[in-house]
Amino acid sequence: MAFVKDPCGIVCVLITYMTVLHADYVVTHWIILQTMPNSLWAPFHVVAFNTIVFLLAMAHLKAVLLDPGTVPLPQIRIDFSDLHSEKNYGHEREEWTMCTRCETYRPPRAHHCRICKRCIRRMDHHCPWINNCVGERNQKYFLQFLMYVCALAVYSIVLIVISWMYPCEDCHADVSQAQTRMMHSVLLLLESVLFGLFVVAIMVDQMHAILYDETAVEAVQQKGPYRIHRPKMALLAEVCGRGHPMLWMLPCTSLNRKHHDVPLLSHDV
Ligand SMILES: [Zn+2]
Ligand SMILES: [Zn+2]
Repeated sequence: MAFVKDPCGIVCVLITYMTVLHADYVVTHWIILQTMPNSLWAPFHVVAFNTIVFLLAMAHLKAVLLDPGTVPLPQIRIDFSDLHSEKNYGHEREEWTMCTRCETYRPPRAHHCRICKRCIRRMDHHCPWINNCVGERNQKYFLQFLMYVCALAVYSIVLIVISWMYPCEDCHADVSQAQTRMMHSVLLLLESVLFGLFVVAIMVDQMHAILYDETAVEAVQQKGPYRIHRPKMALLAEVCGRGHPMLWMLPCTSLNRKHHDVPLLSHDV
């Protein structure tokens, strides 16, 4: 479990929860209960909307709290005097690099994050919205978080449009209530459009990074795709785990793969 003490990240996480809670409050209190009180659709929408909120919170918490793939520090201090004799490491180690800030060797595709102050395996980027790096072990939950935010935004927009198209006849008796409802609806509409478009843009970026086997860090470094061509499903399974693709969208399943968290000993390098 990891929690990064970054003020910007903590503020962004709080904004995320406040926005989701506001959306839940407006949809259940001002839209569903006020505009369709006698309809059977009301309980259906309350349950469906809150299920998405629950899944979103679960995926987000996992992305925030799980270790993104921190490269363990060596138990014994590494001697960096052989810095210029890399040919000694053997062929299989040639893609391992050194991090002078962590004072350790790191596996291929690991990069140092200045905010987490550690090297992260297959680091994509540091995301303030999860106050954590997006790396090998939490990218799946980050993608789920984006997907559920998108679903919640679309659902909110649909419910707002329905409430405007089919206004409840009994609900207009109190003018001030109608005005408050309209104000909340417009605010939620703006939030949904803004966050919805934002997460779609990040989601497209993430899917491109996964399917073309090139993280955001590698794209900046212009190293080109990392490995030889592999099937798209294999690349997706590397991020989402070996389970059935239908389970990839659920934040309750684990990645189900072995981890390489054994601390590096001096003789390992
Ligand atoms: Zn490092
Ligand atoms: Zn980071």
